[in-house]
Amino acid sequence: MRTVADIVSNARRLGVAIPAFNVPYLPMIEPVVRAVVDQDSFALIDTARPEWKKFESKGPAAVAHEFSRWSKPEHVRLHLDHVPVIDEDNQQVDYLPIFKEALAIGYESVMVDGSRLSFENNLQATRQVVELAHAVGVPVEAELGAVMGHEAGPLPPYEELYASGLGFTDVGEARRFVQETGCDWLSVAIGNIHGAIAAGKKDQRKVEARLNLDRLEQLSTATGIPLVLHGGSGVRQEYVLGAMKKGIAKINVATEIRQPYEVVLKETGSVVKAQQAVYDRTVWVLRDYLGIAGIRVRVA
Ligand SMILES: [Zn+2]
Repeated sequence: MRTVADIVSNARRLGVAIPAFNVPYLPMIEPVVRAVVDQDSFALIDTARPEWKKFESKGPAAVAHEFSRWSKPEHVRLHLDHVPVIDEDNQQVDYLPIFKEALAIGYESVMVDGSRLSFENNLQATRQVVELAHAVGVPVEAELGAVMGHEAGPLPPYEELYASGLGFTDVGEARRFVQETGCDWLSVAIGNIHGAIAAGKKDQRKVEARLNLDRLEQLSTATGIPLVLHGGSGVRQEYVLGAMKKGIAKINVATEIRQPYEVVLKETGSVVKAQQAVYDRTVWVLRDYLGIAGIRVRVA
C-alpha cells in the first residue's frame, strides 16, 4: 500500500489535490469515509487541536478509535491537522506530547502550525517536529504565512486583506524554510482564510475567497514540494481548480461539512440525518467542486 507522502506527491504530479476533511464531531467520520469510498476517491480525515478544544472531537485518540471502526485505508487515512505552537487565543501550547501521542497511535501525517511565531521560531519548532515524525517515517506539514480566521477578533474586510497581501507567504522565505526544516508539505497563505470557529462567529457564512495563483506558482517552483490550501471551503471554484494545476496537492475542507452537520442536527435532533447531510456535502465536494471522483486508482 502506498504511503500518504507518495499519494500527495502523486497528486501534485497529476495536478489534483487530496482533500482533508475536518471532523469536529465524531459521527462525521462515518459519512465522510462512505462518501469517499462511493466516489472511488482518496481523502484524509483531519483532526485539529481547535476541534477537540472548541468542538466535540475529544482528541487524537478518540478520533483514531472512531476512525478504526470505518477505516478503508485504500481510500482514507488519518492526518493530525493544526497543532499550533501558539494557539488561536494566543496561548502557548505544549505541542510535542501531542505529536508523540498521535505518532504512537498511527497517524500517517501530521501538521505543526508555527505560523503565529516569528520566522526563526517557526523554523525551529517545525524542525523539532520533523525530527520526531521522520524518525517513524511520517511526513510533516508546516505553515508559513498567516491563514487567518480562527482567531476570535474581527478580520479586516476580505477585499482589503486580499489587495494588501497581508500575511501572504513570501517566496524567498518559503524556499529557505523548506530547505532548512525538511518539511514535506507547506500550507501557504495566498488569499485563503479559515472559517470562523469562535463562539458566536462559527455559524456565519464564509466570505467567498479568491487565490493569488501567480504567487502560488512562484511558491511551488521555489519550494518544489506539495503545497496545502487551508480554508478550502468557500473558495471560488475556478481558483481551486487553478490552484490544483499550480502546486496545491492537499486541500483542507472544514466549514463546508461542519455547518450542514450542525444545522441539520439542530433542526431535526437526529444524528443520522445530520450524518446524511455530511455525506451529501462530501459527495458534492469530491465530485462537483474538486472534480476528483474516481481518482483513487491514479493517486493511491
Ligand atoms: Zn487550517
